[in-house]
Amino acid sequence: MYKVALVVGHSKCFSEGAMNEKTGLTEWIFNKNVVSALQLMSWPDDVEILVFERPPTPRGLHDVVVEVNAYDPDLAFSFHANASGSGLASGTEVLYWYRSMIGKKVAQIAQKALVDCLGLPDRGTKPIAHGERGSYFLRKVYSPAIIFEPFFIDNDRDLLTALSKFSDLVVTYQKIIKEAINEIQSVF
Ligand SMILES: [Zn+2]
Repeated sequence: MYKVALVVGHSKCFSEGAMNEKTGLTEWIFNKNVVSALQLMSWPDDVEILVFERPPTPRGLHDVVVEVNAYDPDLAFSFHANASGSGLASGTEVLYWYRSMIGKKVAQIAQKALVDCLGLPDRGTKPIAHGERGSYFLRKVYSPAIIFEPFFIDNDRDLLTALSKFSDLVVTYQKIIKEAINEIQSVF
């Protein structure tokens, strides 16, 4: 049995993450929908999907990491969207912990699939070290973990692309998760 943790980025209670000014759509709302769709899809019998959200506590990120580690998944995925502040930056990135070779490989699989799906600029995979964005999650989760940043939510054209390709994006995420499981099968 392969256990997969899907973690909705940010929180309904404290900060929903970056927001699109025109629509008020936030990272949390967008990715709550993505992860809900993934929960409803059919999965192979040997794959178990569990969704995690930050609890309404002051240390929500810390606490959700504790919950993920208690579940002891084979892989963990955190769903985000990027923001530049100017609304002008565009494109797809996937983050991984710089010392994780499996994380790097899974990030490469995800990056290619997301670029193929959305057709946005390929900003590449990003190795994350101590103190960099996403480092707490990537470092503290015991399993191989990656963070998805498929588009810039403060860029209206990026968000429109992600919304208009929403069902393709969800299917692509499932494909990435299945390929990532194949990858860890070949390693262990
Ligand atoms: Zn985020």
